[in-house]
Amino acid sequence: MARAFNFNAGPAAIPLEVLQQAAEQFVDYQGAGMSIMEMSHRSALYEGVNNEAQSLLRELFGVPDNYQVLFLQGGASTQFAMLPMNLLKPGRPAAYVKTGAWADKAIKEAKLIGDTVVAASTEADSYMRMPEVAEIIVPSNASYLHLTSNETIGGTQFHEFPDTGDIPLVADMSSDILSRPIDVSKFGVIYAGAQKNLGPSGVTVVIIRDDLVQESPKTIPAMFRYDTHAKSSSLYNTPPSFSVYMVSLVLKWIQAKGGVAQMEQYNRDKTKLIYDAIDLSGGFYRGCAQPQSRSLMNITFRLGSEELEKLFVKQSEAEGFVGLKGHRDVGGLRASTYNAVPLESCEALAQFMADFQKRNG
Ligand SMILES: *Cc1c(COP(=O)(O)O)cnc(C)c1O
Repeated sequence: MARAFNFNAGPAAIPLEVLQQAAEQFVDYQGAGMSIMEMSHRSALYEGVNNEAQSLLRELFGVPDNYQVLFLQGGASTQFAMLPMNLLKPGRPAAYVKTGAWADKAIKEAKLIGDTVVAASTEADSYMRMPEVAEIIVPSNASYLHLTSNETIGGTQFHEFPDTGDIPLVADMSSDILSRPIDVSKFGVIYAGAQKNLGPSGVTVVIIRDDLVQESPKTIPAMFRYDTHAKSSSLYNTPPSFSVYMVSLVLKWIQAKGGVAQMEQYNRDKTKLIYDAIDLSGGFYRGCAQPQSRSLMNITFRLGSEELEKLFVKQSEAEGFVGLKGHRDVGGLRASTYNAVPLESCEALAQFMADFQKRNG
């Protein structure tokens, strides 16, 4: 069996061990005579999957007891709207850190619901860095402060988070959740679509502090309220059961690898190979993100010309690499190195980069 060197940005690589385990259980889940997709979400077996996914996420990510872990649908994009629907208060603006394409989309949705302010922006630097904590100015009456912990397209990542005191800190962690240990107690809400670092598409994780769950205005319809899903343990309506099951397998895989701190070390080892290939190329490859904001999940870089970049993509594809073309909005090249991307793929890419430079440098 030939597995591609998969550097897709999302949906992205899933650990081979997880895929194989899912394949073994695909037709008959634990002797039920049916797949997980065919059984009632009210069955004891599925309840077990749902509970296990929740408790593993709590354990691995260090989620305190006064937080809910929810499995919702609609992707992170739905959270761009659901968050302000529930937590943006009249007369109290929602503050946003503007760091790229995803932060921008979150702001646009919040603007439809209420007042927003930009607490910091790195647009003047073409979003090639994250702001320093001291640059982020939050109005004292803000409903919350929202930031994007990792900008998937630009390839930048926060390495330090602001202390917002009583103002809830909200993070879109779609592309770096569980890539490194985080002090969850600093956040009011963390959300992430699963398809980058947690498994397949179809489920969105929301981690939300108990007091914030209760704050939704009465006028919000049931499906868009956090308290609806919290009260029913994410089983208010039919959940994306297969996706939640896959997430539970990925979480078990992270646990078997030693947990999130081990994952971070692994990700550092992986990305060092590629950042070194860029930095030691004498300018043949140029990293896009400013060094202090470089991402451990999405490595963005360029070559001397667009023709050379096209050739890079073409030749890399011929050698089994997938997903190295940059996002269509920014061009260039991007290697997404999520938790499930093996070290061997990164070693192969570093080697390909060196060979490509020899041929074209
Ligand atoms: C991919 C991504 C999204 C969008 O996620 P969907 O699940 O497709 O809605 C939002 N934010 C970030 C940071 C992302 O990487």
